[in-house]
Amino acid sequence: SPRTVIIGAGIVGTNLADELVSRGWSDITVIEQGPLSMPGGSTSHAPGLVFQINPSKTMTLFAKYTVEKFMGLEKDGLNCFNQVGGLEVATTEARVAELYRKLGYAKSWGIEARVIGPAECKDLYPHIDESQVLAGLHIPTDGLARAARAVDLLIERTQAAGVTYLEHTAVTGVLQENGHVTGVETTNGVVEADIVVSCAGFWGVEVGKMAGTDVPLLPLAHQFVKTTPVPALAGKHKLADGATLPILRHQDQDLYFREWGEVYGIGSYAHKPMPYVAADLGPTPEHVDDENMPSRLDFTPEDFEGPWDECRKLLPCLQETEIAESSFNGIFSFTPDGGSLVGESREVDGFWVAEAVWVTHSAGVARAVAEVLTTGRSQYDLADCELNRFEETQLAPAYVSETSQQNFVEIYDILHPLQPKESPRNIRVSPFHARQVELGAFFLEAGTWERPHWYEANAALLDQLPEEWKSPTRDDWSARYYSPIAAVEAWKTRTAVAMYDMTPLRRLEVSGPGAETLLQRLTTGDVSKKPGAVTYTLFLDEQGGIKSDITVARLEEELYQVGANGPVDLAYLRREARKLRAENPALAAEIRDTTGGTCCIGLWGPLARDLIAKVSTDDFTNDGLKYFRGKRATIGGIPVTALRLSYVGELGWEIYASAENGQKLWDVLWEAGQEHGVIAAGRAAFGALRLEKGYRSWGADMTTEHDPYEAGVGFAVKTAKEDFVGKAALEGRSVETSSRRLRCLTIDDGKSMVLGKEPVLSGETAVGYVTSAAYGFTIGKPIAYAYLPAEIGEGDQVEIEYFGQRIPATVTPEPLFDPEMSRLRG
Ligand code: FAD
Repeated sequence: SPRTVIIGAGIVGTNLADELVSRGWSDITVIEQGPLSMPGGSTSHAPGLVFQINPSKTMTLFAKYTVEKFMGLEKDGLNCFNQVGGLEVATTEARVAELYRKLGYAKSWGIEARVIGPAECKDLYPHIDESQVLAGLHIPTDGLARAARAVDLLIERTQAAGVTYLEHTAVTGVLQENGHVTGVETTNGVVEADIVVSCAGFWGVEVGKMAGTDVPLLPLAHQFVKTTPVPALAGKHKLADGATLPILRHQDQDLYFREWGEVYGIGSYAHKPMPYVAADLGPTPEHVDDENMPSRLDFTPEDFEGPWDECRKLLPCLQETEIAESSFNGIFSFTPDGGSLVGESREVDGFWVAEAVWVTHSAGVARAVAEVLTTGRSQYDLADCELNRFEETQLAPAYVSETSQQNFVEIYDILHPLQPKESPRNIRVSPFHARQVELGAFFLEAGTWERPHWYEANAALLDQLPEEWKSPTRDDWSARYYSPIAAVEAWKTRTAVAMYDMTPLRRLEVSGPGAETLLQRLTTGDVSKKPGAVTYTLFLDEQGGIKSDITVARLEEELYQVGANGPVDLAYLRREARKLRAENPALAAEIRDTTGGTCCIGLWGPLARDLIAKVSTDDFTNDGLKYFRGKRATIGGIPVTALRLSYVGELGWEIYASAENGQKLWDVLWEAGQEHGVIAAGRAAFGALRLEKGYRSWGADMTTEHDPYEAGVGFAVKTAKEDFVGKAALEGRSVETSSRRLRCLTIDDGKSMVLGKEPVLSGETAVGYVTSAAYGFTIGKPIAYAYLPAEIGEGDQVEIEYFGQRIPATVTPEPLFDPEMSRLRG
């Protein structure tokens, strides 16, 4: 097996050693700068609360696995997980609703949970003042990880299996040759390696620098208080850290609680963010103990004054206690979007990162990394924690610092799925931005791009909107970050013509003598067609899971334009291009990200051809440019590339130009379109129109957990092609053999909205979850897509649970709009 170095013997590093060794890897060295008995990182003082439910399916499943693993990790009759259950209380109506939303996640991801009333909260948790509480969410399988014990037992187990541990040894450099890691330099000499995994926790930035890899995390201190002995707990527990009451969260006040023998342990996020730079904390001392470790800072009592009052309100028994001297401010990692950082460096092959990981997710993350290293893929979809998910703009230290601090502040807040950051904003804007502002665009941000969701200018058309296009009034939650103007924009797209800013869509240029070979090898489609051809195709992993969906336009013999999903696709293509070149230097392919230097307008609608004919002498008739073909042309004197595609299902083109020509292009189309009723349209309408057409969105409707047949994109797999990544795994699979299918649901009452991730129930059983949802303006009903067992077919009835309410829905044949494709091919 490959020579593997793991940096850090915290809960992540030791779990990873264990997961690798259990998969048969034998040459593993774990290097730890502190003493193994107490390394001194975040794990050394982690109170170990494990609340499993998370909006991310993957993070929830990571937590579930951690619970299962630690339950079975046992010595001398004591395991590493005290399954006391979890209780989250609500003291506001908004939080009660939030508990129901979380209950929905629990059902979607398969965690048992219940919303209970104040009396039952009191039964479960006699110390609370139930008059403060409106409701609670009880999760029986949550509990307390004995994290330090787990580290000890994992070290013991893996050492017995042959893993080498070097303690008091700091990694000081990451060695590489030809873009591949070759080992590490340490305070005790060089250790050679084929694979290095940094599990350095909040030191991740420093270790990343050694490999020239940005690790976007920020170390922040978080207050952890211990009380003096609580009379009500006297003599209750045998163990010094014993607990029998559920772990408790009071998120309305940014607080959490656990019993700790005779005292309470209390965590507070109700204080200002306190950022640190790991390098400034100095080297780990020779001797580490509870009071003396790099991750532990002095307690700042002034930050706990207000929260302490709140603690005593909810738990009156604390009025008889004081804050103990053992309280501290402990350091751990935060990231720009709150997710973990897991994956291979985009710069250095063989250098991996598994950081910003909570104890809660530690075993799950370790298993996922071990799966990827040993088999090429994980059973979990890793998009939410993928190291390379960030745009370059999001790797800037100032961005990481501001957004990570914001995540600390908002950690227990009720966040709407569309809620934008207030700052930093306006980092990336398209060349149409000035025009969009003039039209009253309402912007939301994604990947640091400002993206219009609707245009207030179109409100003027609301009184012309035909009755059948009007959408029902929404509930408060689904009405947030939404405007009825979207109906106007959908109507005009289907009946006239609209301009959509598609600039943030990632564009990559793949060029050179190896371009065709590279893309043929990585995609499920045939991209060897002549220049002018456009192909919708997939990247699969080795097991046939969908890594991405892309459009590949062959512009020249050795030049492709690829429409991709994000930085992960870019990293993948570059890595595979390096491999191909190493195999055969004659097959060099260059990957260039052209997104920022170019722009794109989606010009779509039945009048799109009338409009374009006025501003271009190029042939945009059906003969001149067929569906799924592309060509270079000139519009209003501006050189463009036009691809005849439409994600909204209408006649038209994605029109690409270089960025400096963007505003002029917009103006030319805008002026010419006036007589055709052209409008600018935003993402709210876009999202609805694409669902009517049944177009899948990667990341929501399909991920690596799904194969093309389940996801309904089997048409993009050309099995006749000689070979491609994932082909062997698909052998024998088809729509018919799939045990689950992505299905189109319509909401029976024609008005109840859902937003995504809600559970779908058949009777009382959760059988799936919503992947995408929108109001279908053209069909006059809300639409939801969901993965359902194959037995549930068209015409069957199910229910979607939204904030605890059951919404009847019907599995409906798809696509709902224009199944004959007459619009697109017209
Ligand atoms: P660490 O435990 O920090 O391990 C990293 C190791 O890498 C360290 O031992 C370090 O010495 C070593 N290292 C770093 N650089 C080098 C180098 N150059 N060479 C050699 N070795 C190196 N999480 C929960 O899930 N539930 C909770 O209730 C919870 N409560 C918390 C309360 C507090 C006060 C704090 C501070 C954190 C809490 N966390 C909790 C978070 C959790 O503790 C951490 O996320 C987790 O322990 C991180 O584990 P790790 O293995 O990644 O990092």
